[in-house]
Amino acid sequence: MEYEVVIGIETHVQLKTQSKMWCGCANAFGAEPNTQVCPVCLGLPGVLPVANEEALRLTTLTGLLLNCTIARYAKFDRKNYFYPDAPKNYQITQYDKPSTFKGFLDFEFQGGIARVNITRAHLEEDVGKNFHFDRSSGVDFNRAGVPLLEIVSEPEITSADMAHEYLNALKEVLTYGGISDCDMEKGMVRCDVNVSVRPKGQTALGAKIEIKNMNSFSGARRALEYEIPRQIEVVSKGGKLSQETRRWNDEAGITETMRSKEQAHDYRYFPEPDLMPFAPDDDWIASVQRRVVELPLARKQRFMRDFDLPAADAQAFVWDVPLGNYFERAAQQTKSPKTVANWVINNLRARLTETQTTLENLKFPPESLVDLTGLIESGKISTKIAQDVFIEMFNSGEPPSAIVEKSGLSQVSDVDALGKFCDEAIASNPKSVGDYRAGKVAALNALKGQVMKLTKGKANPNLVGEILENKLKN
Ligand SMILES: [Zn+2]
Repeated sequence: MEYEVVIGIETHVQLKTQSKMWCGCANAFGAEPNTQVCPVCLGLPGVLPVANEEALRLTTLTGLLLNCTIARYAKFDRKNYFYPDAPKNYQITQYDKPSTFKGFLDFEFQGGIARVNITRAHLEEDVGKNFHFDRSSGVDFNRAGVPLLEIVSEPEITSADMAHEYLNALKEVLTYGGISDCDMEKGMVRCDVNVSVRPKGQTALGAKIEIKNMNSFSGARRALEYEIPRQIEVVSKGGKLSQETRRWNDEAGITETMRSKEQAHDYRYFPEPDLMPFAPDDDWIASVQRRVVELPLARKQRFMRDFDLPAADAQAFVWDVPLGNYFERAAQQTKSPKTVANWVINNLRARLTETQTTLENLKFPPESLVDLTGLIESGKISTKIAQDVFIEMFNSGEPPSAIVEKSGLSQVSDVDALGKFCDEAIASNPKSVGDYRAGKVAALNALKGQVMKLTKGKANPNLVGEILENKLKN
């Protein structure tokens, strides 16, 4: 029997705000333990939370970026549980009235575009971090109360690879939108995966198994690559799976039972009495709407369509937004955007990295690259000379035409002048001449190289070839 896999993913993302969700403590990674805490985020008695407006904005912005409906009435709830990392013994979250819901994310997958629907994206707070020592344990509450967004996908993902691509695409959107820095090593993005299997064609879902403790997207993929065959094996042997939570053991490369359905928490959700419901009006949503940016996939498709770029080039401009913007300004002024893209990717990007220069400090405008490629296309300079001109314009900021003019780098296209160099090359390379006349066509390249050397690379190589051929025929 054939089986199919159903996967849903819950992604937790720390929002990029200056301060925490309910207090003014800094939202910053890496400080000494328990130095970014106050009575509010330590859950001391008698304190009141005050919502961080930027976190509310970023939540709405995420909703807009993920094509969600923005709730005009959202509220906060208490999720009750006792665990050392939760100082209040409850977490403030959004239960039945989330800020945004019913959206979707499109992403590239297996040569096409896949869509995964988003159930909801709701706002909550992060908890502290437990540390275990030889004979004791400690908790760092610096992270407690950091605004956290939970993005829940519909169970529509059908493979480990698709889950991996979904997570990457989601991360790209969140980074692009300025929602989060999504630094996985700093724990800014975490995910839990729900996975079940069922015989192909069956509509009812199989037993839902949740996998936790994956600290990278590749970890999530590996966990699924282990868990899916495990479930299929149990079911295909006539066994029965029951709903449970499993832990991914990254070192061993296996999932292990954490708790069964019977041990599942009852969180006793109830409305947070210390916070007003959140009911954004048109103006407020419009102010967030102005922060919506073009998403990576849309940008890639636009660059491929408008500038006729291959996917790899367009992708390079998706990964490096400022570089892409720079290219775009140049591309709008040329008929050969692909040539300009080559210069931006192969020369400009490499040079910026080598010299540790940022685009803001770049000395020449995009127009100079258009100028440079124009000089090559019109045959004024060779591609080789263009490399030297590029270095010069990178260093001085001078327009390429001026550099060519000033230093006499203009390509020699004068047949008489080139003819003399060709004669010289023929006279001093009797062996190559003999080879060529004996039918070894490749010998012409040696002579051509000689002329390029004599002219210090300034000769028009195609013209040199023609002249040499004519001379050797006679
Ligand atoms: Zn605080």
